[in-house]
Amino acid sequence: MRYNFSAGPAAVPSPVIEKVSKDLSIFELSHRSNRFEQILNDAKQRMRTLLQIPRDFEVLFLPGGASLQFYMAPLNLMIPGRGADLIDSGHWSNKARYEIEKVGDCRVVASSEAVEFKELPEITESTFNPDASFIYLTSNNTIYGTQWKKYPESNTVPLVVDMTSDILSRTIDFSNIGLAFASAQKNLGIAGVTLVIIRKDLAERCSHDVATMLQYRTHIAKNSLYNTAPTFSIYLTSLVLEWVESQGGIEGLEKVNREKSQKLYDYIDQSHFYHNRVKSKDRSVMNVIFRLTDTHLEEQFVKEANAKGLIGLKGHRTAGGLRASLYNAVSMDAVDALIEFMSTFSGR
Ligand SMILES: *Cc1c(COP(=O)(O)O)cnc(C)c1O
Repeated sequence: MRYNFSAGPAAVPSPVIEKVSKDLSIFELSHRSNRFEQILNDAKQRMRTLLQIPRDFEVLFLPGGASLQFYMAPLNLMIPGRGADLIDSGHWSNKARYEIEKVGDCRVVASSEAVEFKELPEITESTFNPDASFIYLTSNNTIYGTQWKKYPESNTVPLVVDMTSDILSRTIDFSNIGLAFASAQKNLGIAGVTLVIIRKDLAERCSHDVATMLQYRTHIAKNSLYNTAPTFSIYLTSLVLEWVESQGGIEGLEKVNREKSQKLYDYIDQSHFYHNRVKSKDRSVMNVIFRLTDTHLEEQFVKEANAKGLIGLKGHRTAGGLRASLYNAVSMDAVDALIEFMSTFSGR
């Protein structure tokens, strides 16, 4: 048995892989064909129903990854002279900040850098500027293993949320959200397509002088088919959404996700051999980071785990250590196999 704990591109549900391997003709399908349009609309509708996306939001499938959204979101949503507020929770929010600064003023209003991102920054009523164009937030910090259990309340300023590593893992409250995005290769399928959920009125902020491809309004008007869409990636996402439905929807997966991560955290916490220093209330349900007390053994750990079919456990190159990503497609069996291996490894 092979279990994939990689942070991304990540595990895809095996029923999806089975189904897709039986019919690869989608490769050849025109993005203008009725059949493809049906696939796209079906994926949109399933996404709307599963995430209970309000009617005033549009669902888009765009190329360019989450990394393009770091720039495209401010390019469309920045109001001249008003800048944006950003919550710094590590690596990915900093990458976003770098792009936002190309468009306008980006104020870091809260940061947990001083504690090496082992917890989420404190938010108070006075954290945000009431006239900010938007507030930027990373929902789940893939590298540091932290996750917002509840998004900060911004009242009038819309949140722009990078949900790349926890989309579809739990229900979402859209009341403060203006724009959410997620590239697909973690919880939605394979690389090549990025989900964007945008409150439609916000797309009208953008200057018409901006490149046509970089305006959300273009993709809203053309139903994500302005140019050749990443057809196969969208098809695969539609199959993943079907699979999510078969798992009891988001609520079903949310429950299992909580159980999976709790089991692993509980095991790590009672161990003297392994540890996780993330503040417990901020721990991610998706990415469980951990270290060996004797860090010299980490390389050996990864090597032996690989040999046992437990792959993708090496931490991000910038953070080191180990990481088990427990996305939707990673089963409880995989977690049990990992804990069994960890237990054997520590007892040698
Ligand atoms: C992986 C990841 C990204 C990068 O996504 P790309 O599709 O490679 O641009 C951005 N944000 C978060 C939170 C991620 O986990």
